[in-house]
Amino acid sequence: MNATRFWANFRHLQTIGKRKDGAYRVAWTEEDQMARQTLLDLLHQEGLHGYQDGAGNIWGIWSPVDNAPYLVMGSHLDSVPRGGDFDGVFGVAAALESLLAMRDKAPEPLCLNGALVAFADEEGVGFNSGLFGSRAVCGFLTREIFNNFHDDSGTRYLAETAPRFGITWESVSHLDVIPIAVYLELHVEQGPNLDRSGIPVGVVNVITGRSQGFARFVGQQNHAGTTPMPLREDALLYAANAVVRLNQIVGRAGAVGTVGQLKAMPGSPNVIADSAVVSFDVRSPSDTVRNIAVRDWVNSWHGGTLFAYHEEAAVPLYPAIQDVIARAASKEGLKAMTVPSWAVHDAMIMAKKVPTGLIFIPSVQGISHAAEEFSHPQHCEEGVRVLEDTARSLCASDLRRQEPKSEDEGKGS
Ligand SMILES: [Zn+2]
Repeated sequence: MNATRFWANFRHLQTIGKRKDGAYRVAWTEEDQMARQTLLDLLHQEGLHGYQDGAGNIWGIWSPVDNAPYLVMGSHLDSVPRGGDFDGVFGVAAALESLLAMRDKAPEPLCLNGALVAFADEEGVGFNSGLFGSRAVCGFLTREIFNNFHDDSGTRYLAETAPRFGITWESVSHLDVIPIAVYLELHVEQGPNLDRSGIPVGVVNVITGRSQGFARFVGQQNHAGTTPMPLREDALLYAANAVVRLNQIVGRAGAVGTVGQLKAMPGSPNVIADSAVVSFDVRSPSDTVRNIAVRDWVNSWHGGTLFAYHEEAAVPLYPAIQDVIARAASKEGLKAMTVPSWAVHDAMIMAKKVPTGLIFIPSVQGISHAAEEFSHPQHCEEGVRVLEDTARSLCASDLRRQEPKSEDEGKGS
């Protein structure tokens, strides 16, 4: 890698939409558009073929091999409001540098072409349309899904906003995607595991599955003064007990669980609530653990019913690529450990279609989606080196013939 070039490009992209209290490159805003245009300019300055596709993804193409599919490296440029300086944009800058380094000095032999992608709208902030660009690339969007993306108030629709940025269902449904052999993503961990264990490289083996939905608890509306305590049917109390039990049950199971919303009706200080609704979000790298935790939690309720439930299975990542990443780290003299990804990434979508690898570097104190998000410059450079090295190995050989790793090159060393 050329560290000077990497930092110049990374800083350049990072500053777009940056305000005093954090990064504001929310998808489908001018700042996001500016970041993507800047990336296009950088690609053109470097003499690469760069373009925006019909879903708003930015591609950079390096194709020295006739008729070969592509090793694609990428991440996303959009951020949450008041976001950090690393989530997504670090992976795009790293992918750009790795691609340029390979262009400067090509791997030998060279079996794959190389490409960069900055996926559109990974965060899904404005219209609940997260992972938009990668879903479009993989053909997972339908007209119905596209037309249904809307804001939380249900009044603004993506289909009405996207055309301002040149994106319509017509353009999304007619994507002309390059043939992809492998997808690689480098990302900050956004959690504390690497930082706490002092290990600079995470080799992701699985992206956690999740169960999300709502529970409604029903009681009897009554007077706050005249109703004796033993005779109450307090919906909010049932809900509160469920919130506490979720914390206990998923904690014991080794999963994570969150109640982010709690609403009581009629919502008056002097009235016992007759209805209370809580949201929940339970995640685990193991679908079995997650399912048992949710089942045990539901069985612990009093007066509750489940609604709007949906779940996504955990997505395992390609074992042979994990081995290549671990070898790349060990070649660079870096310790690596196998970790699950507790957050969702474009890599999760890509993994359903193509062999995919995901590499993490430490996030200081595990803080992310916040202005305090930070990764040490040394860890950033080490991550880029591992990404580049992994890309070189994969481009120089047929993935299906990757040799199994020998015993002394263990991950988690
Ligand atoms: Zn991200």
